Amino acid sequence: MEIDAAREVRTTCPYCGVGCGVLAKVAADGQVSVRGDPDHPANFGRLCSKGSALAETIGLDGRLLHPEIHGRRTGWNEALDHVASTFSQTIAEHGPDAVAFYVSGQLLTEDYYLANKLMKGFVGSANIDTNSRLCMASSVAGHRRAFGSDTVPGTYEDLERADLIVLVGSNLAWCHPVLYQRIAAAREKRPEMKIVLVDPRRTMTSDIADMHLAIAPDGDVALFTGLLAWLGQHNALDRAYITAHTTGFGQALFAASALDLTSVATATGLSEDELGRFYSLFAATAKTVTVYSQGVNQSSSGTDKVNAIINCHLATGRIGKPGAGPFSVTGQPNAMGGREVGGMANMLAAHMEIENPEHRDRVQRFWNAPGIAQKPGLKAVEMFQGVADGRIKALWVMATNPVDSMPDADAVEAAIKACPFVVVSDVLASTDTVRHAHVRLPAAAWGEKDGTVTNSERRISRQRSFLSAPGEPRPDWWIIAEVARRMGFGEAFAHETPAEIFGEHAALSGFENDGGRDFDIGAYAGIDAEGYARLAPFQWPAPSPGGGTTEQHPTRFFANGHFYTADRKARFIAIRPTTETRTTPDFPLILNTGRIRDHWHTMTRTGKSPRLSQHIAEPFVEIHPLDAQHHGIGDADIVRISSPRGDVLVRALITPRQRQGSVFAPMHWTDQFAAKGRLDALTAPLIDPVSGQPALKHVAARIEKFAAK
Ligand code: SF4
Repeated sequence: MEIDAAREVRTTCPYCGVGCGVLAKVAADGQVSVRGDPDHPANFGRLCSKGSALAETIGLDGRLLHPEIHGRRTGWNEALDHVASTFSQTIAEHGPDAVAFYVSGQLLTEDYYLANKLMKGFVGSANIDTNSRLCMASSVAGHRRAFGSDTVPGTYEDLERADLIVLVGSNLAWCHPVLYQRIAAAREKRPEMKIVLVDPRRTMTSDIADMHLAIAPDGDVALFTGLLAWLGQHNALDRAYITAHTTGFGQALFAASALDLTSVATATGLSEDELGRFYSLFAATAKTVTVYSQGVNQSSSGTDKVNAIINCHLATGRIGKPGAGPFSVTGQPNAMGGREVGGMANMLAAHMEIENPEHRDRVQRFWNAPGIAQKPGLKAVEMFQGVADGRIKALWVMATNPVDSMPDADAVEAAIKACPFVVVSDVLASTDTVRHAHVRLPAAAWGEKDGTVTNSERRISRQRSFLSAPGEPRPDWWIIAEVARRMGFGEAFAHETPAEIFGEHAALSGFENDGGRDFDIGAYAGIDAEGYARLAPFQWPAPSPGGGTTEQHPTRFFANGHFYTADRKARFIAIRPTTETRTTPDFPLILNTGRIRDHWHTMTRTGKSPRLSQHIAEPFVEIHPLDAQHHGIGDADIVRISSPRGDVLVRALITPRQRQGSVFAPMHWTDQFAAKGRLDALTAPLIDPVSGQPALKHVAARIEKFAAK
């Protein structure tokens, strides 16, 4: 590929779901520099520490440069033939459900689309799931229950226009930093804007909060169900909206009315005074946005939490209006793109439903596929259990590192080691998952490949290449298409460019879409190479040419009070909070896992930047001073955190920001970066029964001093 050294290339940050625009440039000496794209509507020129350091994470270090079979370097033809023939043989001998793809929110939409098409339409199984299952599956399930579709109604502008922002389980300052910066800037212009943080920890986000509700772990269902009851008791409902646009309110209110303020206080660990002040503020502020992310989603009651929040917005008619609505923000750069193409085991492409026979028929006809998966496949945790018990005999992992990031990581590693056939396509040769692969396929990295991603506010942006790949890496879409052709599905996988795939994806979104589905980018069907090259960021739905920019966007979801259910009405979900005690005398603390500001997932990219490691150089555990005193732990001591599944060694950070009875540790370090650092060796494969999302923020644990500092 020819690189124009003088030109800045417009691309998108590969880290979080904010989806910031990046201008990347390669100097004549090969040095890469990046800056925020001032014209991108997600960030208007801002970048956070991770985005700013992107140039430092590019390099040959640790790259997988050539295909390998059993550690032997080989050519692409042999490797692809081997993958295709082994998958075909496994399917012939054991059926389509004996194979699985575990994919990633790091994939570009075009990669994701082809992987989903291959598995669901041509293999005939729905055993494709994604690490986004760990990120936002509960929000997807909550949206589908309430709206009849997985529709995120919020936009970033809504945050700037709101008079009240309620942040639930969301440390935006560290996890979505540019969104936090946008809120902070809006707040400076409008000091009357109020911000409430609902989080067991006093995170950096609390710096801009007017009120911090240090809620008990998993107290969110009680908090918002209690709010619904309080709104009913205080005549603060929008009865006209409820009657015109919703069903199920009576049952939801009846279930909520079991909660009085005293019982909510007990369940949430908050005082009645705190609850009363928050509830009054919510009731009095029409322009309220409730933002939530992993603290809500990563829970065994994650879907109920989402619906408890949505119930309050429906009850007050605060949805589909500027500056008002529930807003789930995604963690990964292309979690939303994965939702669009059916990258989850219980979805079909173009936001269609695998359990809907009409949708299956429509997708099958569009693809001209020999068959189509008839039922949902295995979700992430179940998939690795399927690998462990032998149901899955051939597994392809794309662009993710489940050996370090799945709950109960030791069991996942053992399952992968025992699996008869494991393919990993990845940028790096050195991840803990790649090490166990029978076939390693080198994938092109950020900056070397072309495609699209969709951010948290449904904005589709281009990622563009500006670097030549070293060695033989290929884009993921190319690898998938080549395997599909070798499995005998050549005609349906004849794509030569990502533009062709995007054009097909867009055409499917508009195919027989009579407005009964939310996702529609039909205006881009069959987009040509030039149009794709020039594609500017746009939000969906965009069914007609010209739809797309923030100013011109014709549609605000749910503005007309119509939802995607059969009767076009939103559903209240009746929820009764349950209390679950996971701690035991041996494991008396609740371990909450999460992110820090300057690292990403298992550090396979950010770990390359010394600058990013300067912020926090080693794994740590936040402990409340009283818990530290009780366990005889001093600041900076080395501490062993143990759960029934394993243990890690980390540095003690004693802080009143941490809630007593809980500890917090970041998920990023693995054994590669710290001695005994793999935190997900402690977490359990406990999932939300509706969404299948693991409860990564509520793990029974204990701490003890390991050695003096
Ligand atoms: Fe990248 Fe997210 Fe930072 Fe934006 S906020 S620069 S998308 S990591």
